[in-house]
Amino acid sequence: MARTLSLLGATGSIGASTLDLIRHNRGDWQVEALTANCSAKELAALAIEFDAKIAVVGEESCLDDLRSALEGTGIEAAGGAQALCEAAARPVDMTVAAIVGCAGLAPTMAAVERGGTIALANKEALVSAGEILKSAVERAGATLLPTDSEHNAIFQCLAGNDIAQVRRIILTASGGPFRTLDAQALKSVTREQALKHPNWEMGAKITIDSATMMNKGLEFIEAHHLFPVGLENIEIIVHPQSIVHSMVEYRDRSVLAQLGPSDMRVPIASCLAWPERMDTPLAPLDLAAIGELTFQAPNEELFPATRICREAIEAGGAAPAILNAANEIAVEAFLSGQIAFTRITAVAQETLARYTAHAPGTLEEVLAIDAEARARARTALESSALV
Ligand code: NDP
Repeated sequence: MARTLSLLGATGSIGASTLDLIRHNRGDWQVEALTANCSAKELAALAIEFDAKIAVVGEESCLDDLRSALEGTGIEAAGGAQALCEAAARPVDMTVAAIVGCAGLAPTMAAVERGGTIALANKEALVSAGEILKSAVERAGATLLPTDSEHNAIFQCLAGNDIAQVRRIILTASGGPFRTLDAQALKSVTREQALKHPNWEMGAKITIDSATMMNKGLEFIEAHHLFPVGLENIEIIVHPQSIVHSMVEYRDRSVLAQLGPSDMRVPIASCLAWPERMDTPLAPLDLAAIGELTFQAPNEELFPATRICREAIEAGGAAPAILNAANEIAVEAFLSGQIAFTRITAVAQETLARYTAHAPGTLEEVLAIDAEARARARTALESSALV
């Protein structure tokens, strides 16, 4: 019997990879809800192709476009923040949470509160509201399946083993496109250079996060929430080939690694089929052609983002949400040509240093801290003209 699925962020990179897997296994899935922010025409085309029950745009002003693109199809159209949460709360067998940024938090929470099974790609939700999201998972009896490739790798390496037997989690990082540059060269990298990731094809925000290493810092926080081994037992190692997606070391020093092509369809498939496995249309890993797998320590002098994230999660409370919000604003500013590449991490750090807030206890409090941190980060941007 076909399983039902809702996909939050259907028009993005993770959305496209997910739908490609569904396309190859059409008989196994019935699509319930597909969502986007404002890509109304693209969303409508996907809703028609996959015969979705409802299509939702987060941006209410884009609803008219969605309605006209869906006219006569019988597919329901809706728009706005509340509509996103209502769509996420519809009962389905699997929800893929792939909205980018803290904007994905409330819809992800809606899916969690319904007690569903959620393939979580939206790492910013977990970074901003880790404790709140985890309590909600427990309360509602929901299941979170890590979809980020590193966390999915760890999940696979744990393979049901007791977390108490784990000594260390080793997160691999490609190092991004600027791994071999020096501090001077890093100051003048362009948007186009930063948007060219050496191994992965991803949305713009995560691609920039990979170039600053903020992505790995956010993943460090994500790993802490998903796999409670203690912050001191989570390590980052640079692995430029992106073939080993992460590792788990057990007490006896045995290290298990998960390998695979640098293609998000692998971890997404692992979540969709969990606890079983499914076929993917990917070519097998050709290790002889790859030849070498290399590893090196991260350079936190040049890329301080991982250190800043570690300090934020050590501080706890509101710090990770503030850091995440400021980074989102700084990445947008870099993408629109407002600030230089090296200012991205600096703006995040400055916002974190200047704004403190009480530890949030509810989703609404996280969202209020997120909004205030965004406003502060915008102020920090004004004092940092493009140089
Ligand atoms: P994209 O930018 O490619 O896609 C983002 C999706 O979210 C789009 O469907 C977009 O709609 C929607 N969206 C954006 N803003 C909002 C909003 N305010 N409200 C509602 N929907 C919104 O991102 P990715 O697919 O690259 O990444 C998605 C998430 O997955 C991120 O959290 C990322 O960190 C994580 N991830 C991604 C990986 C990848 O390979 N891409 C790997 C691991 C994790 P619209 O098209 O209308 O803008």
